[in-house]
Amino acid sequence: MADKRDYYEVLGVSKTASQDEIKKAYRNLAKKYHPDMNPGDKDAEAKFKEASEAYGILSDETKRKQYDQFGHAAFEQGGAGGGYTNYQNMNVDDILRGFGFGDIFGDLFGGGGFSSSRRQAYNGPRKGQNVGLGVKVTFEEAAFGCEKEVSINFKEECSHCHGTGAKPGTSPVTCSKCNGTGQVTYQRQSLFGVMREVGVCPDCNGTGKIIKEKCPECRGTGYKYTRKKISVSIPAGIDNGQSIRIAGMGEPGVNGGQRGDLLVEVNVQRHPIFQRDGVNLFSTMEITFTEAALGGDIKVKTIDGDVLFPIKAGTQTDTRIRLKGKGVPYLRDKTKRGDQYTTLVVSVPERMNAKQREALKAFDEVMYKHK
Ligand SMILES: [Zn+2]
Ligand SMILES: [Zn+2]
Repeated sequence: MADKRDYYEVLGVSKTASQDEIKKAYRNLAKKYHPDMNPGDKDAEAKFKEASEAYGILSDETKRKQYDQFGHAAFEQGGAGGGYTNYQNMNVDDILRGFGFGDIFGDLFGGGGFSSSRRQAYNGPRKGQNVGLGVKVTFEEAAFGCEKEVSINFKEECSHCHGTGAKPGTSPVTCSKCNGTGQVTYQRQSLFGVMREVGVCPDCNGTGKIIKEKCPECRGTGYKYTRKKISVSIPAGIDNGQSIRIAGMGEPGVNGGQRGDLLVEVNVQRHPIFQRDGVNLFSTMEITFTEAALGGDIKVKTIDGDVLFPIKAGTQTDTRIRLKGKGVPYLRDKTKRGDQYTTLVVSVPERMNAKQREALKAFDEVMYKHK
């Protein structure tokens, strides 16, 4: 994947571009390279796909953040962004559907997306919807990785009617409004002249079939749900809000399309001592006046347990020490870890007994009033 171009470069926008700028840049490129405008031009098609992929990531703030942090690695196998979608292997219709282009191109192409030939492809195999789910993990589980069991409502074809939705022994009949095509045709004016616009048949919802007697098991839906427990591998170094993609555990596809994916979003609990920023950890700890003045080894809490850290004599309050490699593992390279930064605060005793006061006064005498 070394030859993959930077997504910002593909769209020709800056790293700080607003969502409006990204959308505008993509619309311009998509219009220029759209296969409908460049019939048979493979290079234009590849460019269209490349731009679509870049837009797919950068238009999603979560994915954009992951991309900014990890680059393309975020979406490769095992990356933070979950499975990587190879747009070059997809057909244009799948890309158009996957994006909900109605919303981005609605006004550009006169309201109905693209030309009729594209919309007819709705009857072909369609990938199922993705399903989202949240999972809570502790701070340490996120840092070092863990296995979590999650329960999902797994949607499957009803075995009683084999997904037809019709009572066994009966069959769905062909929809008379659309003659079984699932589509009805309109004509509309657009930027590129009159276009034949194909819409979903309102009588059969695009299935082309009407069910007269419904299957009692699934009430005519053709689907059933079962509770499924699945184990999710949370990779070490994952951060709050990042998702893990489990291919094929989403909703079933339509017309023989593949299943959608399950996206498990990780919610990391707060830690009483550590704050995390990327791979680095931050904490604050108190040291005594004498430790600060004399120096020597102090015991510092890390996510690996206590470690001894040498501080120099005369360490001042608010000194920040750095514990190399005591941060969180890098998601893309578990052999590397961030650092821990701990701010040392010199504490002043609040209560002292007579003996301690005497000792301190004696110290004061020799330290400050000696001359
Ligand atoms: Zn059924
Ligand atoms: Zn119909």
